[in-house]
Amino acid sequence: MDNLLGLKKNDLLKLEYGLSINIDGYQNYKFFLMAAVFDKTARAAVLNLINSYGYFGCIKCYQKGQRLMLTKTSSKHTYPYIKNNPDGP
Ligand SMILES: [Zn+2]
Repeated sequence: MDNLLGLKKNDLLKLEYGLSINIDGYQNYKFFLMAAVFDKTARAAVLNLINSYGYFGCIKCYQKGQRLMLTKTSSKHTYPYIKNNPDGP
């Protein structure tokens, strides 16, 4: 999956650098991704962010979050609501 996303990211970067298109002479046109739908893993890769299951992985706030151990081998990362600072530090 990383390879497929890597190819898409490279294609998007090429479009951001611009394409020379001949319409009454060559002009450089730049294209930018304005909206997309991804699952969380792909979103983190495309936006160059930490996955949602990692510390500081929430895209809406700057909170570190907490790791909750469910069993000896499994855990979940949570972002508990902080009443006095809900947007994070
Ligand atoms: Zn958050």
